Amino acid sequence: MLDTFYAFYTPGEKARRVVGGIGWEVAEQLKAEGMAFERPNTYGAGTGVTYDPEVLKVVWERLAEDARVDVLLHTWATGVALRDGRIVSIRAWNKGGESVFEAEAIIDASGDADVCAMAGVPYEDAKSTPNLQSLSTIFRVANVDVEKASALPKTELWALMHRAAESGDYTLPRLEGSWHRTPHAGVVTVHMTRIPNVDATDPEQLTRAEIDGRRQVREYHRFLRDKVPGFDRSVLVATSPAIGVRESRRVIGDYRLTRDDVLKARRFEDEIALCGAPIEDHASGPDTRWTYVPGGGVYGIPYRCLLPEGVEGMLVAGRCFSATHDAHASARSMATCMAMGQAAGTAAAMAVKSQKTPRSLDASALRNCLLENRALLDPID
Ligand SMILES: Cc1cc2nc3c(=O)[nH]c(=O)nc-3n(C[C@H](O)[C@H](O)[C@H](O)COP(=O)(O)OP(=O)(O)OC[C@H]3O[C@@H](n4cnc5c(N)ncnc54)[C@H](O)[C@@H]3O)c2cc1C
Repeated sequence: MLDTFYAFYTPGEKARRVVGGIGWEVAEQLKAEGMAFERPNTYGAGTGVTYDPEVLKVVWERLAEDARVDVLLHTWATGVALRDGRIVSIRAWNKGGESVFEAEAIIDASGDADVCAMAGVPYEDAKSTPNLQSLSTIFRVANVDVEKASALPKTELWALMHRAAESGDYTLPRLEGSWHRTPHAGVVTVHMTRIPNVDATDPEQLTRAEIDGRRQVREYHRFLRDKVPGFDRSVLVATSPAIGVRESRRVIGDYRLTRDDVLKARRFEDEIALCGAPIEDHASGPDTRWTYVPGGGVYGIPYRCLLPEGVEGMLVAGRCFSATHDAHASARSMATCMAMGQAAGTAAAMAVKSQKTPRSLDASALRNCLLENRALLDPID
């Protein structure tokens, strides 16, 4: 349902691109199909690449097939086996029953660090994070007069929200948020809902959040239709198939990226990805807080952030990587997650090929291999 890749570019007047490789190839393929365009972020957080998510699904499958990846959908990892401190297999369940997959290197890209948790890797989670990010259900609306709706400045949209909530006629927990156009005429995507204080790894809490998120969507759409010019004849056509979780478990790795690293634009010898995105904090309450890397700076994500503490043969990538709450709030956008994914995949392949563990790999060899595959380890103008 999400339809805009952020963090390919740094924010600011002079945007620089900081993610290349497979992530950028995906963006280029979407553009080549006429199904993506670049647009400024509503909050000034850098140029985004807005795409049609239905086309993205097919692009991803095509790329995976071309690379001869064996894909198995509808399958959940449910357990792990460890031998002498090394992960050796994953147990998984699907409609065919239970199976065990042995592998010399295993990457946890589950968002919630499920595999790491099962392997006993230490992590931070909802219980240890008092200012945990809220969840949101994204929705799509059709039959919008986009020209008319665009004429209303964001501050006036938010003023309308405040007045609607104060009138008591609408229940709007977040009094800001945004909508943006898509590649399709009259169709827009809306980011407005907010469901705070949810432990997304607790199934009962997640179920309640899912139901609450869809209820909020109806309410925000009612507000848009009643109060916002251009939305009066609009129809709600889709809600995200699952509620969006910004933050759940964050693994403790050999290094933890910190707020200081982000705001000081720190670079690392073993960095495998770059990011210049602001710290975007969707805390509970009506607003969202943005803290920018000074001077449009860029920080590095060390390879050590992908190495879960205490277990061999394992890597982590994406939003469950090793970072503190604040650093995670900057590095969790999709382009950065794709860059981490490419690095973790490359490291796993190199480790298997050379009969090493991911931890014992030479980071400079990994960085060279990433560069050969068009990843960016220095920003380009
Ligand atoms: C509401 C919301 C809005 C956002 N907006 C944007 C935006 O506009 N632009 C942007 O760039 N970023 C945005 N983000 C951030 C970004 O979408 C995420 O941080 C990013 O997609 C995380 O990617 P990931 O691959 O780590 O995890 P995910 O995208 O969550 O992928 C994890 C995958 O693992 C699977 N999985 C989970 N557990 C298991 C298991 N046990 N076994 C097997 N499979 C499993 C899941 O089904 C899923 O397919 C937003 C996030 C949210 C929540």
